[in-house]
Amino acid sequence: MNAKAAVFVSAGQPLEVRSYPVLDPEPGMAVVDLVSSGICGTDVHIWDGAIPFTGPLILGHEFLGRVRSLGASDSAQEPTDCMGAPVRVGDLVAVNVIEPCGKCLLCRTGGAASCLNLFASLTYTRSPDEPPHFHGGYAEVSVCPIRYLHRIPDGLPEDVAAAFLCAGPTIARAMEYAGGVQKGDRVVIQGSGPVGLFAALWASRHGAELTALIGSSSRPERLSLARELGAGLVLDIRSTTMEERRTEIMERCGGIGADLLIECSGSPDAVPEGIGLLRPRGRYALAGQYSDRGNVPIPVHQITFNALQIFGSAQFTSEDRARCFDFMRRVPDAWDAVRAAITHRLPVSRADDALQTVRSGHAIKALLVP
Ligand SMILES: [Zn+2]
Ligand SMILES: [Zn+2]
Repeated sequence: MNAKAAVFVSAGQPLEVRSYPVLDPEPGMAVVDLVSSGICGTDVHIWDGAIPFTGPLILGHEFLGRVRSLGASDSAQEPTDCMGAPVRVGDLVAVNVIEPCGKCLLCRTGGAASCLNLFASLTYTRSPDEPPHFHGGYAEVSVCPIRYLHRIPDGLPEDVAAAFLCAGPTIARAMEYAGGVQKGDRVVIQGSGPVGLFAALWASRHGAELTALIGSSSRPERLSLARELGAGLVLDIRSTTMEERRTEIMERCGGIGADLLIECSGSPDAVPEGIGLLRPRGRYALAGQYSDRGNVPIPVHQITFNALQIFGSAQFTSEDRARCFDFMRRVPDAWDAVRAAITHRLPVSRADDALQTVRSGHAIKALLVP
């Protein structure tokens, strides 16, 4: 039996839909049937060449599937996923594409999300011509080590798990670094893509007194969805000036500025604006600058004078995703709003169209489905 994959050949080129044989899994490996594969902003950056990758390869790092078969194991014990939970045929799982080494300085000191050997473990940079062929998410099946699977907890619906599969743990990780949302915090989020929208849900459900979001009405539903997910104040960058936004936020933050800012926009211009919105000793988590879009002048004096705390955050670990699943399970009243973030579902053979909807800002979350 064969299955289809959308193959990235080189930047600026359409993906090629190719067919490869689905092989029986080797010992320790799993074959997983696609349920849904999210199109991430990072994929668009790779597709455009802003993040340099060499093809051929199968993009996709935020995908869910059902376990079709498991390779033999040499131990008598039941196979387990990345969290040590048993995995069986038929289980709904997320598939990891990287695994921290567990040995390097970062892994030993609480920084596994930035493991020094992380990119050597990246599965999907392998050529799909190399068996077992299906190394990434833009394919009807995937084949990966069993320990790269992450079983979805019972009671968490498929589409709710899928909507923020990458954005969710990205925020969970950034909040670990930045000290989390404290009860009564006045939080400002920059960006209305999946990461920013999820941050609005996370902040509002972790006791923020104010959850404000600065976003773009590139698709008007984005900003209404931000409100539904918990943002009490939404400011559209298309219809407000930076000064107007600052006035409004200062007014809502006791005249001193926000306790916590979460940058999820990917725009370098957001950073000097953000620095100006923080109170003295305020915390700034930068979680959105995934591709190098150049430099901007930064008011460095304010960082010193206001004794600001600035945290970069990249990648996440399985523990972050587990915390995220746990959180999602506890907010069933938000599930309809979460589902509304999925605006497009397209087959693997239309991966180019799906990437295009994300690049244009038309999609909030686009998924590839079988
Ligand atoms: Zn992603
Ligand atoms: Zn490591």
